[in-house]
Amino acid sequence: MNSIVKVPLPKNEPLNSYAPGTPQRESLKEKMKEMLDQEIEIPLLIGGKEVKTGDLADCRCPHDHKHLLGKYHKAGPKEIEMAVKAAKEAWKEWSEMDWLDRASIFQRAAEFLSKRYRDTINAATMLGQSKTAHQAEIDSACELIDFVRFNLHYMSHIFSQQPSSPTGIWNYVDYRPLEGFIFAVSPFNFTSIAGNLPSAPAMMGNTVLWKPASSAVFSAYYIAQVFKEAGLPDGVINFVPGSGRYVGDPILEKPDLAGVHFTGSTSVFQSMWKTIGDNIKNYWTYPRIVGETGGKNYVFVHPSADLDEVVTAVIRGAYEYQGQKCSAVSRLYVPSNRWETFKQKLLDEIKTVKMGDPMDFTNFVNAVIDKGAFDSITEFIDYAKESNESEIIHGGNYDDSKGYFIEPTVVKVTNPRHKLMEEEIFGPVLTIYVYPEDEFKETLELCNKTSPYGLTGAIYATDRKAIAEAGKALRHSAGNFYINDKPTGAVVNQQPFGGARASGTNDKAGSFLNLVRWISTRAIKENLNPPKNYRYPFMEEK
Ligand code: NAD
Repeated sequence: MNSIVKVPLPKNEPLNSYAPGTPQRESLKEKMKEMLDQEIEIPLLIGGKEVKTGDLADCRCPHDHKHLLGKYHKAGPKEIEMAVKAAKEAWKEWSEMDWLDRASIFQRAAEFLSKRYRDTINAATMLGQSKTAHQAEIDSACELIDFVRFNLHYMSHIFSQQPSSPTGIWNYVDYRPLEGFIFAVSPFNFTSIAGNLPSAPAMMGNTVLWKPASSAVFSAYYIAQVFKEAGLPDGVINFVPGSGRYVGDPILEKPDLAGVHFTGSTSVFQSMWKTIGDNIKNYWTYPRIVGETGGKNYVFVHPSADLDEVVTAVIRGAYEYQGQKCSAVSRLYVPSNRWETFKQKLLDEIKTVKMGDPMDFTNFVNAVIDKGAFDSITEFIDYAKESNESEIIHGGNYDDSKGYFIEPTVVKVTNPRHKLMEEEIFGPVLTIYVYPEDEFKETLELCNKTSPYGLTGAIYATDRKAIAEAGKALRHSAGNFYINDKPTGAVVNQQPFGGARASGTNDKAGSFLNLVRWISTRAIKENLNPPKNYRYPFMEEK
């Protein structure tokens, strides 16, 4: 084809409201019922083939843990070898394929997610990860579709960047995929991230081994099926669920490892980086390491703030999806002269929050993901109950008899370096420190230095000078900084997402900055009129 094609700038996928009376609400509920009535068997997908190992684990509803949605086969050493081989085989054609053809496959996948698979992927996320209809819609439908469509646009933009060529020379660059395979390791909390981690490197021409989180294999399997149905060739993305270290370590040691695309906890990312470091002499090429990890995100309230706005930001930011967002509000700084009013407003609102099964659309909060999360979050709550530097002012109860339910909990601390102000909890727990109203500047500095993370943060103020001061003092404390808005809910192509410090490599998921990590540029210089004499003019005597 004689054409220089570009992928046009897409629009963000519009949200369905699922309000009563809408056909989308009925059809989503139907799909949920259908999934609840069946138990599926999930194989591995290696080289396009379904592989069953017989080593099975359960997919259960976190809000009703006796309910089995399906069982999945776990990868072992043999399947890892098979997947590495399949990725290597597929690389030969995929890495050479015209990018337009690769793009078309992913455009189709986005269309399928937007239409015929929308209910499936949302229902699977609601049931398997315990999300409300709204939380599933903004994640598994809209954000995943946006990731795919915008990444394709960024890809064509990157490819169109070419160097200058003086007369007589023609320079250009070839944006090669990496030489080897990419290991994509995804977390449980966002279906969109699960889809993005393997697809972003794949669209750039790489082949991938994808290990989804054990507690989110159910929705991940449907994404793998969408990619296949959209025409992704066998072996380009190999789906290898299994337990972390058992699957991870042998893959990380392979000489063909060309990159890691990870989202999850800081400790796992650091251990993977260490394994790569220990094996650094064995690799064919230096592996690219991209990881988005934990957070301890703050909302900072200035005395001039509108408190109704803060209450809304805090309830949505701290408790939507049970606080299991890397960006969730986890610490709040309130000035002493506004504390009593704020406290009353917060308590009045928070008592209206309903918790329960996602099938009941009136619930705002559902269950936390699994027993491990339930135990670790409730340990923080118990610590707060026992500490003489903290007081629980709302919630604090929990019950895992049917599902892993933890009440939205508000803790007030007197020590700004309290454990609950410093460590990531990853659950529905908000910790508040009330600062002396005349110590705005000092408390900004405290906020900046309190935790090792640097993911998201927000300032609430109507005084513009205070906003500017906070923006400056907190510049390195957050990769996503919000002014009079909650620090969750980043949208692709609007707020590129990621943070530094212990929060990750800040390669900004869903932006061109992430995609450039999956290419290795070759510069090509063609001399149109090569010299035939080695001597330069300065060498002449006269
Ligand atoms: P996790 O670290 O427990 O697991 C993430 C993935 O790593 C899973 O697939 C897991 O099986 C795998 N894994 C575990 N040990 C491994 C090993 N040794 N080798 C290879 N893989 C291994 O995280 P999670 O509980 O799924 O997700 C929650 C965490 O993710 C939180 O810390 C949260 O802040 C973070 N997160 C960050 C972002 C971001 O963009 N910064 C987004 C979402 C989640």
